Amino acid sequence: MSDSGGPPVDDVDDVPTVSCSRCDEEWSLAYELDELAMGNRAVEAFAIDHQQHTGHFPDGVTPWVAACRRCPEAVERLEESGARRWARTHARHTGHAVDLDHASRDDPERVER
Ligand SMILES: [Zn+2]
Ligand SMILES: [Zn+2]
Repeated sequence: MSDSGGPPVDDVDDVPTVSCSRCDEEWSLAYELDELAMGNRAVEAFAIDHQQHTGHFPDGVTPWVAACRRCPEAVERLEESGARRWARTHARHTGHAVDLDHASRDDPERVER
């Protein structure tokens, strides 16, 4: 703390970090970048992993949400196509109407059979 120099920094400047206020944690994505060679999909890959293991997405990631209006079924997907496919499939098999929503939308889109 009394050191006048900053932390030892090599080439970590470019490594993106992801934080999650629910976990109160912050992660460097060096593993995704170096080991998995994900490039600019590293954040997305991390977010998907995080959701699979914790049930929620980290900060700064706004998933598409498909939520059934008739039953408790719902999914969150980073890609619109994934959420839309779930909504269509659910509506097709159950006849339920599904709301497809994203932070970028004013109102959810209704998906029906
Ligand atoms: Zn978390
Ligand atoms: Zn349903």
